Amino acid sequence: MNYKVVERSPFARIARMVLKSSNVAMVLGKTIHLSGVSRADFLKNEGWVAHELCHIRQFQEHGFFRFLWLYLRESVRVGYYNNKYEVEARIAGMKHRHQQTPAKRASNAVDPAGIPLPIDTKKGE
Ligand SMILES: [Zn+2]
Repeated sequence: MNYKVVERSPFARIARMVLKSSNVAMVLGKTIHLSGVSRADFLKNEGWVAHELCHIRQFQEHGFFRFLWLYLRESVRVGYYNNKYEVEARIAGMKHRHQQTPAKRASNAVDPAGIPLPIDTKKGE
């Protein structure tokens, strides 16, 4: 898949400050914006990468502004965690996790952030 990774993104930094989170990945179109995590560390985490690539696919499938609208509408209706686009991304991200220990799984959990954009935070590290 054709995508870009931007480290120390000002967009992701704002999200990170608002969320008071140590690390954030945020997808806008074909670009993954990172803050608090290096490209190398992000790319090492297959589950996290798969999760964000799923959001890129969703942008491609629905179109840039339409997907932002659909994502926001879904969040308002069912909440961020149950947002179907997050559920789909979470499943994509979990395919890599079957050999991990429960502790490792918990520390690598990727969560939607509660902002009406496909922004995810990660616990641990
Ligand atoms: Zn997500």
